Amino acid sequence: MTDVAANLSRVAATVPEGVTLVAVSKFHPVEALRSAYDAGQRVFAESRAQELAAKAPALPDDIEWHFIGHLQTNKVRSVIPHASLIQSVDSARLLEAISTEAVKQGKIMDVLLEVNVSADGSKTGMSPEDFAALTEGFDAGDYPGVRVRGLMGMATFTDDRAVVRRDFEALRRLFDDLRAGTFAASPCFDTLSMGMSDDRDIAIACGSTMVRVGTDIFGQREY
Ligand SMILES: *Cc1c(COP(=O)(O)O)cnc(C)c1O
Repeated sequence: MTDVAANLSRVAATVPEGVTLVAVSKFHPVEALRSAYDAGQRVFAESRAQELAAKAPALPDDIEWHFIGHLQTNKVRSVIPHASLIQSVDSARLLEAISTEAVKQGKIMDVLLEVNVSADGSKTGMSPEDFAALTEGFDAGDYPGVRVRGLMGMATFTDDRAVVRRDFEALRRLFDDLRAGTFAASPCFDTLSMGMSDDRDIAIACGSTMVRVGTDIFGQREY
């Protein structure tokens, strides 16, 4: 049996103050989340709308739920009531859909823009071109239902730590550029979500403010 509480305290010890530890609980049963909750964890992330909608009501109200999976526009409506942060905004169209629906639900939805800086052909996140197109002409007034809090990204899936570091440094530069430029007037643009079980040490060294850890807390996922 996975000792979630022991794993959590081991992981938490590697996360410096000022960096938020997000427990990625996708595919794990509610009991595992409850163990982490009882050990003090309050921020969890799910990657599927249905799973989030099922788990959130089964666990305490003071949990902060993040959404980190690819989000189809037709699932936005069911995610917004549960999520405090949608980390995986991968298109202008999705950002617009979230804004429109959040306004309808009377909420300002915090989001991160997910950008793909990896070299491995993975499909998650906006291409650098789409990201540039969205952020260069960005006008917050076009998206009244959202508040862009920062960026999320993943490194190339590789054992080569130099490549991972290069990717995280690229994310950090994008983040710094936006913070000094497009979002200079929004103090809440403060979140750089990067780093997972295997590479969070590198991400933290590169300036991550939020790490997303699944396997090192809950053990292997069963798909
Ligand atoms: C699953 C997932 C994680 C967690 O990965 P682990 O290697 O299990 O820590 C982090 N971020 C995203 C976007 C994920 O989909």
